[in-house]
Parts: sequence; structure tokens; C-alpha cells
Amino acid sequence: MSGPGGAGKGTIARALLDSDPRLTLSRSWTTRDRRVDDVQDAYVFVTRAEFDVRLHAGGFLEWNEFLGHAYGTPVPKESGDRDLLLEIDVAGGRQVLDRLPDALCLFVDAPNDDELRRRLIERGDGRERAEQRVAEAARERAEAEDLGYRRVVNDNLDTAIVEVRDLIDAARAGV
Ligand code: 5GP
Repeated sequence: MSGPGGAGKGTIARALLDSDPRLTLSRSWTTRDRRVDDVQDAYVFVTRAEFDVRLHAGGFLEWNEFLGHAYGTPVPKESGDRDLLLEIDVAGGRQVLDRLPDALCLFVDAPNDDELRRRLIERGDGRERAEQRVAEAARERAEAEDLGYRRVVNDNLDTAIVEVRDLIDAARAGV
């Protein structure tokens, strides 16, 4: 699952995880600082040196740098019949698709740029950072489309959750 911060990825992910026992959230490593609105276990917060040790040991399924910080998905342990939910950016999604071509890739988006900007500022990004993220979102949206991501517009949260759930069900059924 990808999409700009502020589009509601995290909220949708939480709703899915609460209602679907087959889903497990992959916890990423990041070198960025903890933000006030981060839930306690949002990330494993590490130094760049710690990140690099794991990276050079082949310990990430995918990784990327975003606005000056590294983010990576630890190589998952054997998960039986559980499905792993990754909240990552589109460059990471590209790496996952290279290794796992059947992965379901979803781009959770805000209805438009004004709404995205409003949500980013409301959650504590400064104006300049919000502008950077709006521009980055436009680039990612285009890349996601190229990669065959399914776009889910989060205008109404309940509707978006149902839409994502339906896409997961269809992927599990091999539709
Ligand atoms: P934030 O700093 O807002 O939590 O996340 C910034 C961006 O990094 C988001 O687009 C988020 O999806 C992405 N991200 C978070 N974890 C990972 C990861 O493990 N790998 C990659 N490639 N991107 C990640």
C-alpha cells in the first residue's frame, strides 16, 4: 500500500488489520525522527549506521530514501498463510514487484491536491514540507499508474476501506 502521507493509508491499514486476522503489518525501519502523531510502534527508529549494517547484510526486502531519510522493509520471516501488509512508497513497491510479481499494489490517494495539502498541514507538517509532499505525490501517482497500481481515492473513509477490502478479496481469489 502506497500513497502520500495524509491520504489516510495508516487509518485504512489499521481498519483492515483490526478486521482481518490473516493480515499482518510489516514494521519498517526508518532513520527519521519520531513525529508527534506516530503511533508507538509505527517504525523501528534507528540511526543511519544501524540501517546500513542491516542493508549491507541483505536484510531488507526493499528500501528507499525519502526527503533525506532511509526507510526499509525487513525481509519477512516465513509467515504461513498470513498476508503481509507493507506501507511503503512507490519506489519500494517497484522493488517488491520485481521480487513478488503477484503482489497487490494499492495507491491510496486524497481526492485532490488542495485536500491533500490541508490534511498534511493539519497533521503537523509545516507549509514548506507539505508543498514538498504534494509535489512528490504527483510524481508517485504517475509512477504508480505505470506499475499497474490500483488507485483508491480516500474521499469517504468507510467507502475507501470497503474498496480496499474488495480488492484484497479479489486478489486472494486470484481474480
Ligand atoms: P512518513 O515519514 O510519512 O512516515 O513516510 C514517508 C514515506 O515513506 C511514505 O511514503 C511511506 O509510505 C514511506 N515508507 C514507509 N516505510 C517504508 C519502507 O519500509 N520502505 C519504503 N520504500 N518506503 C517506506
